[in-house]
Amino acid sequence: MATLLTDIAMNFDDLGLAPDLVRVLGERRYRDPTPIQRRTIPLVLDGCDLLAAAQTGTGKTAAFVLPILQRLAFVGQARRRQVRALVLAPTRELALQVHESVLAYGHYLQLRSAVVFGGVKAGPQIQALAQGVDTLVATPGRLLDLAQQGAVDFSALEVLVLDEADRMLDMGFIHDIRRIVDQLPRNRQTLMFSATFSKDIRALATRYLIEPETVEISPPNSTTELVQQSVYRVSREGKTALLTQLVKEQNWQQVLVFTRTKHGANRLCKKLLREGIESAAIHGNKSQNARQRALAAFKEGALQVLVATDIAARGLDIDQLPHVVNFDLPAVPEDYVHRIGRTGRAGATGQSHSLVTDEDEPLLRAIEKLTRQKVRRLSLPEGFQAPAPEPEAQRDEERPRRTSTERRASNTADAPGKKAPTRRRRRRRRSRSDANPAAGAGNREARARA
Ligand code: AMP
Repeated sequence: MATLLTDIAMNFDDLGLAPDLVRVLGERRYRDPTPIQRRTIPLVLDGCDLLAAAQTGTGKTAAFVLPILQRLAFVGQARRRQVRALVLAPTRELALQVHESVLAYGHYLQLRSAVVFGGVKAGPQIQALAQGVDTLVATPGRLLDLAQQGAVDFSALEVLVLDEADRMLDMGFIHDIRRIVDQLPRNRQTLMFSATFSKDIRALATRYLIEPETVEISPPNSTTELVQQSVYRVSREGKTALLTQLVKEQNWQQVLVFTRTKHGANRLCKKLLREGIESAAIHGNKSQNARQRALAAFKEGALQVLVATDIAARGLDIDQLPHVVNFDLPAVPEDYVHRIGRTGRAGATGQSHSLVTDEDEPLLRAIEKLTRQKVRRLSLPEGFQAPAPEPEAQRDEERPRRTSTERRASNTADAPGKKAPTRRRRRRRRSRSDANPAAGAGNREARARA
């Protein structure tokens, strides 16, 4: 049985992977499979449907990409516009990274692949699909558009992967996912990966998976043990000064900083630059090229600090990232798990630091409840002095969004090209979509670009 095999299997050969795949892994210096890979690879090779709770950074991409490539390499071929394996991902960053893994792991295999996402011209993507591809990685909105134009043929689809499914639901992709899955052959293998197993995720699994195997590497909603988490209690006005002091005095060289809004990200980035700290911001208002450039500079060490909103940072894979800072706590506790999952990846240790104001206390408690852990409180560095409070008007602008309506507004505000909805705009939008349920579809492309 698979469980027995996975318990004793210690290297990639034992998992039943083909020599061409094992060779690449050796070249990438992956010595042993990670726990999710040990459990998942044999099940996927066996053709099982799968529901896997795996935090980001655990090696989950290889856990599904490797066995899928193996399956595709030895039987069948994609004809014109056909797709044999489809990976749906919530953001273009994650889609790009999964596709990079497909290319890297499939280096010695004769397979074709493509990646499609919104916010860029569709023409080259249509061309890439024309010949047929073995693996397609896609964000839901753009894929649906391409399918509607007849650019893709799902009739030969063998495997569907819903990657970071919880995030796709959070981002409102459920309708797009349904419309895509309705077009796929029923006789397929379906794999679902999610950092958390919420009620909605279980409902989605019941709908799309057939007698799935369930793999849970760590308890749901737990944060990775390799991340040392800490909290600094600080006033809102003192946050920038504290971050600057920590980066400089503790000589942090590569820091991913999360803010809740794109304006907050821009503002913080400017302040850090004024302090002589090389920084860039990435969020939904930045072009795809600007985001890719900033990420590349950050990975190379040319940038010390990358300031990001949750949506933009989703799926970033930066090897051995040592520090994650929650400049603002996330409004949704699950996002905390995703954020700190950027560090402590694949066996490396990392640190997460949260800057928490009095107003943030309820959010911190919600995070601790979800992760079932108390985060260590650290005292402020010696000699630290918070600046005087800023004028009222400025404070109001920076005040974290709290109510559920405001939280929705802040999520939408990260979609590029969209204004943060005012209460009046939201009301208008609501009455429009009540009158015409299809009106919500107009948001799809904006979400895909996020
Ligand atoms: P993921 O959770 O898929 O985002 O992977 C996180 C990181 O772990 C990526 O940089 C992978 O290249 C790396 N990785 C995946 N599998 C292994 C492995 N078995 N050994 C070492 N690193 C790995």
